[in-house]
Amino acid sequence: MRVILLLLITWVVVAPDTLTTALAAQANRVTVSYVLPKNSAHQPIYEQLKEVRFLERLQQFLSPFRLPRPLLVKVEGCGGDANAWYEDNVITICYEYIEGLRKTMPANTTLAGVTPDDAVMGPLLDTCFHEFGHALFEMLRVPVFGREEDAADQVSAYITLELHKDEARRIVGGTAYAYKTEAEAATAPPQMAKFADVHGTPAQRLYNELCLAYGADKEQFGYIVDKGYLPKERAEDCADEYQQVSYAYKKLIEPHVDRHRAKKVFDKSWLRPSG
Ligand SMILES: [Zn+2]
Repeated sequence: MRVILLLLITWVVVAPDTLTTALAAQANRVTVSYVLPKNSAHQPIYEQLKEVRFLERLQQFLSPFRLPRPLLVKVEGCGGDANAWYEDNVITICYEYIEGLRKTMPANTTLAGVTPDDAVMGPLLDTCFHEFGHALFEMLRVPVFGREEDAADQVSAYITLELHKDEARRIVGGTAYAYKTEAEAATAPPQMAKFADVHGTPAQRLYNELCLAYGADKEQFGYIVDKGYLPKERAEDCADEYQQVSYAYKKLIEPHVDRHRAKKVFDKSWLRPSG
């Protein structure tokens, strides 16, 4: 009886809140903040992000998603932690993470066509979309099979691949470059415990990203297989992998997107003109 009573009380307390949340879902719910860096080494990053209006553009890009409550995206110093995360309605992107991307960017355009700018902006956008994926799962109560980190990577790749072909190619290229650099930086095979991490290894995340891109558009991303960046054995089923992600997105997330706004936003150019 006590259990039933407790359940009833819980229902009474939770139900109105759920109702309000559902009714209040609306577009244009993202706010942004450039937190002043405490470490002077991050000052140029802070200034450059502000100069290109990175967060304002991201805010506009995320505006079509109807969210039940406000979402803050901020860039901030993290005391040396090169990281990014979503927690309690806030996405935090650390200056240290962007600093790391700048340190490993190529001096010139790579053989795969990745420019120094794309090697920073590609993974930075991918990370923002990935954290936004976590926010969507929580805010929209999206059911997730498999590891949430893989699912967030999939949401990020799907959103990227919805952009203009050239933009998508540059973001995928930059993201792949960052994973490859991270994977190759390891001087020894990963220790057993590394595989317990909630994330895939950088190499796995690289191949997952390439597979979804190839699966989305075999012509645009055909070079990924032709040049051997993605093994043929994996490539065979990438169209199916992409279709699975596309179906999940359309079923679970797209109903929460303002289509009119989305069309305008996705048609825009988000990267600086290359070369
Ligand atoms: Zn994550």
